[in-house]
Amino acid sequence: MLNIVIFGPPGSGKGTQSEKIAEKYRLIHLSTGDLLREEMKKGSDLGIKVKNYINKGELVPDEIIIEELHLKVSEHKNAKGFIFDGFPRTIVQAEMLDEMLSKKDIKIDIVLNIQVEEEELVSRMMGRAKDSNRSDDKEDVIYKRIDIYKEQTFPLIKYYKNQGKIVNIDGMAEIGKVFEKICHAIDIYNSVKDR
Ligand code: AMP
Repeated sequence: MLNIVIFGPPGSGKGTQSEKIAEKYRLIHLSTGDLLREEMKKGSDLGIKVKNYINKGELVPDEIIIEELHLKVSEHKNAKGFIFDGFPRTIVQAEMLDEMLSKKDIKIDIVLNIQVEEEELVSRMMGRAKDSNRSDDKEDVIYKRIDIYKEQTFPLIKYYKNQGKIVNIDGMAEIGKVFEKICHAIDIYNSVKDR
């Protein structure tokens, strides 16, 4: 099994890279952001509950996210592995993920830390705003999401560094180049693991 966390600020290209990784390594792509946006679109109870947080660029409470993630992981009992995109975003979520996986006798193998400069993040998100139809791709909300990332999510780097799992990836390059670097890191990990 191969379990990857893809980590990085909003606009760092996590979603795009996750799709490519999931396809190449046959992993289940679990994006909490996509999941919540689908619920909002459906107008489900969950969608209604999370709408205000998302529209303001704030994090949805841990309990809600953890329950959803648990359900999704349980739906894929025979998966070859998962790529967690946009989760965990807080230390509580990371601890819960470790606990949940350890009960299944599995663990997070690699944490990809996609690094992109702030100016580039804002310009990418403003650029995609016209087509994305995302209620949170608005200038004030974009800055808020970056602030929340710095306050609540960035500390996770230390958490995973302490576990020796962080791989830094320069996310400023074009999509194909970033993907190459990611594959290189995964292939090295797999070759050492298989030895
Ligand atoms: P994303 O698509 O990953 O940028 O997520 C969009 C929004 O969904 C975030 O700004 C949060 O409001 C919410 N969200 C997604 N994942 C999480 C998470 N793991 N914890 C809390 N809120 C989340």
